[in-house]
Amino acid sequence: METTRRRAQQTSNGKASERAQQSAQWGRAWEVDWFSLISVVALLIFAPFIVFYFVMACDQFQCSVSEPLLQLYRGDVTLLSIWARAPSFSWSAAKIYAVWVGFQVFLYLCVPDVTHKFIPGYVGGVQDGARTPAGLINKYEINGLQCWLITHALWFANARYFHWFSPTIIFDNWIPLMWCANLLGYAVSTFAFVKAYIFPTNPEDCKFTGNVFYNYMMGIEFNPRIGKWFDFKLFFNGRPGIVAWTLINLSYMSKQQELYGTVTNSMILVNILQGIYVLDFFWNEAWYLKTIDICHDHFGWYLGWGDCVWLPYLYTLQGLYLVYHPVQLSDASALAVLLLGLLGYYIFRSTNHQKDLFRRHDGSCTIWGRKPSFIECSYRSADGGLHRSKLLTSGFWGVARHFNYTGDLMGSLAYCAACGLGHILPYFYIVYMTILLVHRCVRDEHRCSSKYGKDWKRYTDAVPYRLIPGVF
Ligand code: NDP
Repeated sequence: METTRRRAQQTSNGKASERAQQSAQWGRAWEVDWFSLISVVALLIFAPFIVFYFVMACDQFQCSVSEPLLQLYRGDVTLLSIWARAPSFSWSAAKIYAVWVGFQVFLYLCVPDVTHKFIPGYVGGVQDGARTPAGLINKYEINGLQCWLITHALWFANARYFHWFSPTIIFDNWIPLMWCANLLGYAVSTFAFVKAYIFPTNPEDCKFTGNVFYNYMMGIEFNPRIGKWFDFKLFFNGRPGIVAWTLINLSYMSKQQELYGTVTNSMILVNILQGIYVLDFFWNEAWYLKTIDICHDHFGWYLGWGDCVWLPYLYTLQGLYLVYHPVQLSDASALAVLLLGLLGYYIFRSTNHQKDLFRRHDGSCTIWGRKPSFIECSYRSADGGLHRSKLLTSGFWGVARHFNYTGDLMGSLAYCAACGLGHILPYFYIVYMTILLVHRCVRDEHRCSSKYGKDWKRYTDAVPYRLIPGVF
């Protein structure tokens, strides 16, 4: 085993230096600078505490972000006493979680997509991914929409007819479930890390930076798989986290109903706006194969733990907050939030759609009623192949280089604004998304610049702003 591991690493390291000679260095970094290393270690240490802090702030301090710190400062509580008051791991929560994940694995692996045969315009079934830096094109079974529909049909059937479990089950087990989600998040990231050394799916696309923390966090394998179809990135990125997102919100809504005998308009808004975002994700799952998460990021703790813990616990903070603070917005405020959310969604979707249309038809399409303008560019993959590509410079892609992120941020702000101005906790999401998307923008541009070289420079000259024209 040791020999195999060493051979895999040597092969990869050998290939790494070989490739370093080539110009096709547009995948993830081979070298880790000090800033990246410090950020990685800080995230590994602090991210689990951030999740714990926010969840406990709601559970014990009425969703006040400052109260735990103030009480710690005054000596009213200690870190240990907060920890001791947290609901602990329970086997009943572990069973719920195991059934949940097991069911999602079953749906993903054993129920091939049929929805694309019945729903016009929906792209599902076996689809090609993007070309990897090593020049490989993976196949994926796209059945996320079907999994989402089956799961939600069962959820509603249970709430309406079967009553096998309470619709507040997720809220009622929220913290014990968090321990289970952490167990899975760490287990899957560690497994992927070890697997990369022992039996990588595609050694050509592995990246060993020589720094163990960076490798663990950002991943070594590009597309780890078990068997032909269990793709770690597609499964953990989309399910169970994103399928759970709408169920978690529904559980919060039921809890509000149970506690107060009514559901506030803010809770309905959060459910609707985030529901649209989730449905959009599954409707466009084939398109997501071409986004950064799937076609550029390697699979490590960042994706593994992030999808299991960070996403379900922090993306749903608005609904959790509204269980503790039921906010009823005035009609005018509710309408303003709805319009902001829908406008953000429109920009997000249209921008993404324009690029997809443009790339699928290789520029032979119309955007905003005209033939698109673009910049021709070329790049090399690690196998030495020369490829051609085009960068769109009209439509929303002529307004800013990442206007899809701008739309996403407007939608995120709407979820937060639905919670009123009583506390800052629900605003965590917009702060986080801003950091994530600005960082992603810089990261992506760095990659594109390495990939396209002077052609990328021509593109940034033609479209000078990243997110907001005239500002950034
Ligand atoms: P993009 O969909 O914007 O993809 C960026 C890639 O598109 C680039 O790497 C480049 O790839 C190509 N590209 C860049 N400029 C152009 C152009 N002018 N014309 C044609 N192709 C171009 O980024 P993401 O994958 O990050 O995001 C996808 C969506 O997902 C976004 O709307 C984002 O808001 C959302 N998102 C949401 C997150 C969340 O947590 N809610 C997290 C991350 C993303 P190539 O090498 O092919 O040229």
